[in-house]
Amino acid sequence: MNARTNPIVIIGTGLAGYNLAKEIRKLDAECPLLLLTCDDGRSYSKPMLSTGYTKNKDADGLAMAGVEQMRASLKADVRTGSRVNAIDRVAKTLQVDGESIAYESLVLALGADVFRPDLGGDGGERVLSINDLDDYARFRTAAADKKKIIIIGGGLIGCEFANDLSNGGYQVEVVEPVGRVLPSLLPERASEAVANGLAALGVIFHFGHSVKGVWKHGDGVEVELSNGERLAGDLVLSAIGLRPRVSLAQEAGLEVGRGVKTDRHLRTSDASIYALGDCADVDGKVLLYVLPLMAAARALAKTLTGTDTLVQYPAMPVQIKTPACPVVVSPVLPGTAGTWDIDADGNDVKAVFRAPDGAVLGFALTGARAANPAEKTELIQQLPPILG
Ligand SMILES: Cc1cc2nc3c(=O)[nH]c(=O)nc-3n(C[C@H](O)[C@H](O)[C@H](O)COP(=O)(O)OP(=O)(O)OC[C@H]3O[C@@H](n4cnc5c(N)ncnc54)[C@H](O)[C@@H]3O)c2cc1C
Repeated sequence: MNARTNPIVIIGTGLAGYNLAKEIRKLDAECPLLLLTCDDGRSYSKPMLSTGYTKNKDADGLAMAGVEQMRASLKADVRTGSRVNAIDRVAKTLQVDGESIAYESLVLALGADVFRPDLGGDGGERVLSINDLDDYARFRTAAADKKKIIIIGGGLIGCEFANDLSNGGYQVEVVEPVGRVLPSLLPERASEAVANGLAALGVIFHFGHSVKGVWKHGDGVEVELSNGERLAGDLVLSAIGLRPRVSLAQEAGLEVGRGVKTDRHLRTSDASIYALGDCADVDGKVLLYVLPLMAAARALAKTLTGTDTLVQYPAMPVQIKTPACPVVVSPVLPGTAGTWDIDADGNDVKAVFRAPDGAVLGFALTGARAANPAEKTELIQQLPPILG
C-alpha cells in the first residue's frame, strides 16, 4: 500500500503487539513490519495464566503459537530476546544491545510491570508473581511439591489465583489490607459474595492487615502481618497490582502520566510514536484489560496504513474468572457521584451504580446473576461509552 523504506516497528509481542500486527496485515499484506520482544515471542492469552491449574495446563500448554508460526502468519520479522534500551527520536532509531534499528513509525506495546512489595525478612526469593508465561513456568516449578500458598492481594489477580490454585488442590490463604476482596471493583455486598464463594473452596482470608515481611522457614515461608500475626506456608504469590512500563518512553522525552500518554489516535507526544495496551494512557484512560487494547489495535492499524482513525472505547465490562462465584463488573471510577442499588440473594448479587439523575454508570453481577447474559446485555446497553 505505502512505499516504505523503514519498517513499522512494534516493541512487544503480548496481546497488544500481536493483535496490532494482525490488524495491520488485514489492511496491508506487504508493508515491512518488525516486532521486537525481550521474551521468546510465543503467542499466548495472558488472562489464561490464572486458569492453568483448573485446566491442568503448564506454560507450554497455555502457549498458542511459537515464534516461527507468528513470523509466518504475520509475514513479519519477529526478533526475540531483543530488549530495546533507548529510542533516538531525531534519528528515528532504536538501540537494541548495541545495534541501531531504524523505524518509520514506532509502536510501544510494552505492557506493565508487577508492583513489588517492599518486604522485610530473608524470604524474598520465595515470593513470586505471575505476569507472563515465564513467570508462570517458574511458579509451577516452585509450587510443584508444595501444599500451601499465601497470596498477597485480594484484587482481581489475587482472587483469580485463589480460585485457580484451590482448584489445583492447594490450600490458599489471602492477605488483603482492605477489609474485603476486590475493593476497587465491587460494592461491599458483591465483595462478600465472592469471598463466600472462595471460602467455600477452603480459601482463608486475612483482612485488614498488610504483609510486613517474609522469612524462610525450612523449605517454606513464614509471613508476618502488620498486626504481628505469623502465617506459615510453602510459597508466596504476590498480586498487588501492575504499573505501566514507562521508563523507555520517559528516557526518550515522551510525555508520561500513569502510562505513556497518547491522544485518541494512540499517538504519543512524538507524531511518529504510538502506544497501546497496558503501557498506554489513552486520553487519560489507563485500562489494563484485553478489550481496550483490541479496540486500540483496530484503530491504530487503520491509522498506520493511511486512514487516521480515532479509538472508541464502548462500555467494556470485565469478567472475573472466579468460577466459585463468577463476576461481571463495569467498574465505577473512585469519587463518582451516585449510589449502588443492590438486589441480592445469597451469593447472587445484582448491583447497579446510578448517578443522582438515575443514569446507570456501572454495575456488578455475581453468582447466578453473572451467568445471565440477558441481564448483562441490558445493563451494558445503558452504560455510557468509556471513550465515545
Ligand atoms: C493473571 C492475569 C489475568 C488477567 N485476566 C484478565 C481478564 O480476565 N480479562 C482482561 O481483560 N484482562 C486480564 N488481564 C490483563 C490482560 O492480560 C492485559 O491487559 C494484557 O494481556 C496486556 O497485554 P500487553 O500486550 O499490553 O502487555 P504484555 O503482555 O505484558 O506484553 C508486553 C510485551 O513487551 C515486551 N517488552 C517490554 N519491554 C520491552 C523492551 N524494553 N524491549 C523489548 N520488548 C519489551 C515484553 O517482552 C512483552 O512481549 C489479566 C492479567 C493477568 C496478569
